[in-house]
Amino acid sequence: MTVARFWRKIPQRYNLVGTKCETCGRHFFPPRTFCPDCRRTGKIVDHKFSGKGTVVTYTIIQTAPDQFASPGPYVLAIIKLDEGPRMTTQIICDPKDAKIGMKVRGVFRRIATDGESGIIHYGTKFVPVE
Ligand code: ZN
Repeated sequence: MTVARFWRKIPQRYNLVGTKCETCGRHFFPPRTFCPDCRRTGKIVDHKFSGKGTVVTYTIIQTAPDQFASPGPYVLAIIKLDEGPRMTTQIICDPKDAKIGMKVRGVFRRIATDGESGIIHYGTKFVPVE
């Protein structure tokens, strides 16, 4: 079985699933079980994000850590999901093409073996929207 096939069997890694507060409409990613605005009145439900977002800022990483599947320079960005939360993620594109304000969408690629890094969440990476 390939790595990709293996991960497709794990929905939480394959999908961009967070949570949402139904009381105020705020979205959380990574998922939270408590809304800091509504506190006890917040009703938290699972939410699958659209995967669409915008690059807020980015940096070019010249040397990838060993645990990453793809070596070489890559684009690490903070993106703002359309629903509101920001996340740090890898953008799959030529580093020369990266720019602030670029629209991106989530894709599913080989992921880091070390989920503790906090860099790549749930195996999701992003590509520019043409
Ligand atoms: Zn709330």
